[in-house]
Amino acid sequence: EQDPRIEGIASSIRVVPNFPKPGIMFQDITTLLLDPKAFKNTVDLFVERYTGKDITVVAGIEARGFIFGPPIALAIGAKFIPLRKPRKLPGEVISEEYVLEYGTDCLQMHIGAVQPGDRALVVDDLIATGGTLCAAIKLLERAGAEVVECACVIELPELKKRLTPNY
Ligand code: AMP
Repeated sequence: EQDPRIEGIASSIRVVPNFPKPGIMFQDITTLLLDPKAFKNTVDLFVERYTGKDITVVAGIEARGFIFGPPIALAIGAKFIPLRKPRKLPGEVISEEYVLEYGTDCLQMHIGAVQPGDRALVVDDLIATGGTLCAAIKLLERAGAEVVECACVIELPELKKRLTPNY
């Protein structure tokens, strides 16, 4: 059976048709952030799942992984690292390109942010094809980390939102 908090989280997320382009049903988590109870419940569900799992690093994907990742990292006592779009990180980086519907995109990570033996949790707001999460996993594994799990608030496809704390 589903955790009773999930219904309130799901109903706090606004769906905006045809944004940013025709045919996309955009899942807007800014309305979840306006509801402190839904925001807290979202973080709590993940914290409950990942406490005691010896996770040493939470990696947040730009940009909405920067909203949900840090409160989870603080609560479980892990470091937080940002996985960023190209040319945003000032230090030496490693890069992973990934394929989008049209063209490619890229995520970068600071060298030295993660060490061999680190146990990683990847956080983003939403999984659609999983291409973004795959690039994140590759970056962390190249640095010698073990990716324990990926956590997203929302799963696509099917416009029906299925909220689950892990993938
Ligand atoms: P994917 O790599 O296909 O799994 O796409 C996931 C990434 O694209 C996440 O970083 C999401 O924030 C973003 N994204 C994809 N589709 C949507 C959508 N319908 N609404 C909001 N964000 C989306």
